[in-house]
Amino acid sequence: MSCIFCKIIEHKAPAKIFYEDANIIVFADIYPRAKIHLLVTPKFHCSRIMDLPDNLTLKVFETVRKITKELKLHDNFKLVLHNGALAGQIVEHLHFHYLSNQPNVNVKYKTVIT
Ligand code: 5GP
Ligand code: ZN
Repeated sequence: MSCIFCKIIEHKAPAKIFYEDANIIVFADIYPRAKIHLLVTPKFHCSRIMDLPDNLTLKVFETVRKITKELKLHDNFKLVLHNGALAGQIVEHLHFHYLSNQPNVNVKYKTVIT
């Protein structure tokens, strides 16, 4: 498996991990396009939203709420999905961009793999 996000999931590639549980991992985007730029990523490898099982789709959105609560971003974040190359998807492992430019937010990473 040459998927870079699967390697991050296995802790075999560098990443700043903000949150993870059995199904979801959240890590910092390597080229942030906002002050806070996290990638909310199901651990299940698939490319498109249509291939993500319903229970995991729910877990993605539960995780989005967890992040929002923890960082107190209730009124200031954007969630972006690039679904397919024509829509701008580069990494073929489904992930949601969680972006915010809220000032004075301290993002504490749980695990940093170097
Ligand atoms: P998309 O596929 O939705 O266009 O975006 C892929 C995102 O993954 C990009 O924002 C890019 O900066 C990020 N990215 C690509 N490779 C890596 C990597 O090895 N580590 C991390 N943390 N992010 C990556
Ligand atoms: Zn993968």
